[in-house]
Amino acid sequence: MNHPASYEGRRVVVLGLARSGVSVAKVFHQFGAEVVVNDMKSRDLCPEADELTALGISVLCGYHPDDLITEDTALLVKNPGIPYSSSPVQRAEELGVEVITEVEAAYWLSPAPIIGITGSNGKTTTTTWLGEILSAAGLKPIVAGNIGRPLCEAALEATPDQWIVAELSSFQLKGTSAFRPHIALLLNIAETHLDYHGDMDDYVNSKAKLFDNQTEDDIAIINWDDPECRALSEFLVAELVPFSLYEKLESGIYIDPPFERGADSPKAGDEEDSAIVRQIVFRQADGVETKILPVSELGIPGVHNAANALAAIAASIAAGVALEQLIAPLREFKAVEHRLEFVREVNGVKYYNDSKATNAVATTIAVKSFNAPIVLIAGGLDRGSDYMELEPLFREKLKALVAFGQTSEKLSRVAELAGLAKIEIVEPSDDAEAVLKQAVKQAAAIAEPGDVVLLSPACASWDMFASYEQRGRIFKDSAHTL
Ligand code: ADP
Repeated sequence: MNHPASYEGRRVVVLGLARSGVSVAKVFHQFGAEVVVNDMKSRDLCPEADELTALGISVLCGYHPDDLITEDTALLVKNPGIPYSSSPVQRAEELGVEVITEVEAAYWLSPAPIIGITGSNGKTTTTTWLGEILSAAGLKPIVAGNIGRPLCEAALEATPDQWIVAELSSFQLKGTSAFRPHIALLLNIAETHLDYHGDMDDYVNSKAKLFDNQTEDDIAIINWDDPECRALSEFLVAELVPFSLYEKLESGIYIDPPFERGADSPKAGDEEDSAIVRQIVFRQADGVETKILPVSELGIPGVHNAANALAAIAASIAAGVALEQLIAPLREFKAVEHRLEFVREVNGVKYYNDSKATNAVATTIAVKSFNAPIVLIAGGLDRGSDYMELEPLFREKLKALVAFGQTSEKLSRVAELAGLAKIEIVEPSDDAEAVLKQAVKQAAAIAEPGDVVLLSPACASWDMFASYEQRGRIFKDSAHTL
């Protein structure tokens, strides 16, 4: 198999700086390649370049030089976000230069087996949860990839007795060739990123690359409830482990009794809403069934998070975690920051930060995760949607809406149509922090003991904030100072 050492003395071009570009450039430099790094951003916007130039790596910023990809270029490692239509990638393809993403190089390098996790939604939650389960079982996982830490950095540090738990995007997977995770996990496939992939086939094929090089010795974990994922299972060579919220399976991980499709929450704020106890069950190929724990005991609410738990359980078992070691980390898991994150309870009202919800689908999932009355704080960048699809959800689930930002008028119109008794719009101001603080105050004034105040904006943050993370932190600070 290929290895960065096979590029010693040869020209390797790294396209796009950022953390993964820096990490992969350092790896090839360390193994003796002649590394050239190129980024379209101007030099003053590339502070990472200093570290590389200090090592003697050539860094070219602000343009793509015409002679970047030469006949003697051995490899192009491109940042996953850079489209295949960009001129250096096109040139590499014309000259037959191999084009990969950093994930492929990390695979060449890693002495540790890899658990690869992909899907349209739930990647970060599942990756983090799985990392915590493996840690609790003493397996010393290294969590990396799309979640933040570059995979090459993880691969350099890893020892053969560890696991690399890798969150992978479709952009990263598209640039792989030999990449072979020992455990591959596909959460779901929704129509998204079509601007990059061009069509759905390209997106699905990129996700499917997760399984392409697996052998009979490997394990493929697939969401059996998702028709696109199920269709891919026909082509698997690896051992299939399905998981399902809605069906009892012949083997795999499922819920007994299963959820009904379209059902809401397994957990209402904190209260179990019925006498039904839904158990998470592991059924082995020989038919032996083991109950793991009730869904209502999972550390985070929402049917979508129950699916993420099933996926993390399947991967943990495949990695050798004993069933009794699963229970504590499944119970104790706290949400990843900004994803239905519990903030605090004050005067009997629970505050949740779901700032990551930058579209109506994500807000729908969040709202459906509670059975308690909800005062929703929402609004943000206007991308032209009228949000009418939220009307039934607002009608069924909301007690009140506090709207802010560019979409505040549109959202309050939807709330009016849904017949909400209480709708408030926060006075706009250039002081974004003050606006969100005010929204929290208004929501707190409406909420009564037993209610939930939920920030789940249904919009991107960029009309007022630098990022959804900044928006979420201001919300949390505001809730803490009530
Ligand atoms: P990703 O890393 O794939 O963006 P996250 O774990 O960060 O996913 O979750 C982002 C949002 O996606 C959550 O706030 C929730 O709205 C939604 N989500 C999470 N898990 C799932 C799932 N299994 N199915 C559908 N939607 C989900």
